Amino acid sequence: PRAWTLRARPSGMPQHSDFELIEQPSAPLGENEVRIANRWLSVDPYMRGRMNDVKSYVPPFALGEPMQGGAIGEVVESRAADLPVGTKVQHMLGWREEAVLPAAQVQKLPPIDVPEEAFLGQLGMPGMTAYFGLLDVAQAKEGEVVFVSAAAGAVGSTVVQIAKAKGMTVIGSAGGAAKAEWVKSLGADKVIDYKAGNVVQALADAAPEGIDVYFDNVGGDHLDAALLAARLHARFAICGMIDIYNDGKPQSLKYLAKVIGARITIKGFLVGDHLAQVADFYADMGRWQAEGRLRREETVFDGIEATPDAFLGLFTGGNTGKMLVKL
Ligand code: NDP
Repeated sequence: PRAWTLRARPSGMPQHSDFELIEQPSAPLGENEVRIANRWLSVDPYMRGRMNDVKSYVPPFALGEPMQGGAIGEVVESRAADLPVGTKVQHMLGWREEAVLPAAQVQKLPPIDVPEEAFLGQLGMPGMTAYFGLLDVAQAKEGEVVFVSAAAGAVGSTVVQIAKAKGMTVIGSAGGAAKAEWVKSLGADKVIDYKAGNVVQALADAAPEGIDVYFDNVGGDHLDAALLAARLHARFAICGMIDIYNDGKPQSLKYLAKVIGARITIKGFLVGDHLAQVADFYADMGRWQAEGRLRREETVFDGIEATPDAFLGLFTGGNTGKMLVKL
């Protein structure tokens, strides 16, 4: 079976030569271990951080070792009683065709009636990020105005829909007219195509009364736009800053001082800190799903060979909804 390794630490935008597809010997199973044939691999923006050799909330990928990430597959050999052959599972040994790992590091798929790959997107980690970021971190409430960037992505498109389900007014931003149209179709009240002009001006026009909540996936000018538009006691959930993941350029915010007069709360978060409440996520999302209120899209690359291309596509807006690789 094949696996993608990191051959070199990228500087700037990763290149194909930074990755290498290697053949790995099939390891024998230890007690309580399972062998999983991966069917779906997730590629996510946070993986770019793991390619740098810096101390962070997750350790860097080791050079020459298979990379890791969310994956869904099927148990094909088992030495664990509660994970018989044929069980559909999710785990964190992605970027490879076959995973061998202890049963304790493998989760059965939740009993929600969606295609299995949805558990890597809206019904999985990105969906949880949207749910906890909007409702817990930003404390967004019915009747409030929410601005969300990268609104056509996995997290952002879910933020839009949860906010609408909870009775909020939503302004999304996305790159390009087609994506803006799709975000509108999800229920957003207004959508900014940030590639068509100045996002600061566009948000000021879209929210003449200001915003109560900003869900930040992007950083940069989007964050500045949100600062300028913030109403008294606005809350910012800082989820991601994909605008700087490749170059780490210093942020220059023109409107940061707005924090003082408007008493803005700016709070960073990691989805992993909220897993104690995961039952609430499945209950609400499962209900909205059953009521037909959730829509989702996936952009799917075919075959293990395409994994780096899928990953790189995150930084050029190649995905609408969740970016996935199908094996
Ligand atoms: P997405 O599905 O949103 O994919 C990334 C999208 O970002 C692209 O499709 C692109 O859309 C947009 N983008 C890329 N570069 C830029 C740029 N320079 N300026 C503006 N937009 C850009 O990814 P996810 O939903 O998986 O992740 C969204 C964000 O959430 C990321 O920042 C990620 O790191 C963060 N995150 C944080 C977590 C946490 O625990 N804090 C957990 C999960 C995700 P477009 O075409 O519109 O530009």
